[in-house]
Amino acid sequence: MTNRPDLPAEIARRRTFAIISHPDAGKTTLTEKFLLYGGAIQMAGQVRAKGEARRTRSDFMQMEKDRGISVSASAMSFDFENYRFNLVDTPGHSDFSEDTYRTLTAVDAAVMVIDGAKGVESQTQKLFEVCRLRDLPILTFCNKMDRESRDTFEIIDEIQENLAIDVTPASWPIGVGRDFIGTYDILRDRLELMDRADRNKVAESVEINGLDDPKLAEHVPADLLGKFLEEIEMAKELLPPLDPEALLNGSMTPIWFGSAINSFGVKELMDGIGTYGPEPQIQSAEPRKIAPEEKSVAGFVFKVQANMDPKHRDRVAFLRLASGHFKRGMKLTHVRTKKPMAVSNPVLFLASDRELAEEAWAGDIIGIPNHGQLRIGDTLTEGETVRVTGIPSFAPELLQTCRAGDPLKAKHLEKALMQFAEEGAAKVFKPTFGSGFIVGVVGALQFEVLASRIEMEYGLPVRFEASQFTSARWVHGGKDAVDKFAAANKQHIAEDNDGDVVYLTRLQWDIDRVERDYPDVTLSSTKEMM
Ligand code: GDP
Repeated sequence: MTNRPDLPAEIARRRTFAIISHPDAGKTTLTEKFLLYGGAIQMAGQVRAKGEARRTRSDFMQMEKDRGISVSASAMSFDFENYRFNLVDTPGHSDFSEDTYRTLTAVDAAVMVIDGAKGVESQTQKLFEVCRLRDLPILTFCNKMDRESRDTFEIIDEIQENLAIDVTPASWPIGVGRDFIGTYDILRDRLELMDRADRNKVAESVEINGLDDPKLAEHVPADLLGKFLEEIEMAKELLPPLDPEALLNGSMTPIWFGSAINSFGVKELMDGIGTYGPEPQIQSAEPRKIAPEEKSVAGFVFKVQANMDPKHRDRVAFLRLASGHFKRGMKLTHVRTKKPMAVSNPVLFLASDRELAEEAWAGDIIGIPNHGQLRIGDTLTEGETVRVTGIPSFAPELLQTCRAGDPLKAKHLEKALMQFAEEGAAKVFKPTFGSGFIVGVVGALQFEVLASRIEMEYGLPVRFEASQFTSARWVHGGKDAVDKFAAANKQHIAEDNDGDVVYLTRLQWDIDRVERDYPDVTLSSTKEMM
């Protein structure tokens, strides 16, 4: 199944996706099992190490130090059946949501993991809304079915109600909690039986010839069979069947039930991603869109990781290929600066190790080591001036003033902060009035991480202090209008690291006032990266 039968086979077999979930729903466990089925078993330990690392702050710092781990887990490629899966990691911590949002611009689909006992939780809802902005296809995995879970209809209803998306069951659970024995695979009329004894075993699969097949009764205990048959009949009556088109346009999500820790339901989900998930999609760009099958290579940077080795100021830019067939050593054009760039040592995150990428296709993610030329939102092409659009920068939700411990080191601090701003780790604003920098982040933990990184990577002790401002908005409008506005509101005005004008606010009231008094300018909470 593909919606683009004309794609070259190498591109058509690629599935680039991310997992969205609320912390603890089972994303790490599911990722491990994907890798298990993808033949990259040795990786599983690394994912686990990372999952556990982020549970405590000090371990988290250690993880930031051991950036090798988080980098190789940022994008993972593995083969499953005839497919090449590219799984892009979304940092699970709610403090890093902006990074997460941008990651979602690099994928063609998302797997939404929910906990069968908890349903749709806040972080899931938030991430789903972002997917919705781009009409991303969503495949749902309802996890932890081995434990006491909610009624199946209730779970489906909750998704439909809270997320306003049609839900179609791809499988149906049989039994609840301790009595959960497996699922009925609705798409393929099979019974999948879970083995509780061996967590890494692939489920036993029994082919069933329709729901009145006597084989069903041989495998399903009588006390569960009646309820199951009743439910599935009701489900068929009340819920829509799978409509592949609706899945691809993001208006319907199929749901699989399983237990990641028991490796159960995972293979069916992977089959679903392969069969019904989208291949690399057309990328929005200016002045024209980019189609994956185009011969020439184009790609965009959605993430930058700096200072992986503090001794060298190197960075890795993560590039999502939007089109073409990339080969190592290719000369690409850096569209923002119009400079050529030889990509001689790109990294492909295949299975367990980082490897040099000899080649890559539209849909793949490659890492490009560089010295700071590549920024989030940058486009690389084989010469054409085309710029990928839709990579947002969000207004930070928390602001603090940052000062160097040694006032003579202000220039050094500026350099360090600018680098983190380019990496996308924080917003940095230079106020027109007063000294110091105002640093904006989306979650409070980021201030501590930043302070620690500035000290570690630049040998510069810094202080973060409360700021009178609570939020920031980018100012848009004609040059005259913006200048006039800035002159009249100097106390509130700053520049971001790109030199764009920002209005710092204390209260919602400030924003309301600007809207009332300055009809010629608009304030926005997002900015397109370029
Ligand atoms: P993440 O925060 O979403 O990455 O969640 P993890 O994968 O780290 O899982 C959170 C917790 O749930 C861990 O203790 C897992 O062992 C547990 N867990 C994951 N999958 C299952 C499952 O299928 N059943 C049960 N009972 N526990 C699970």
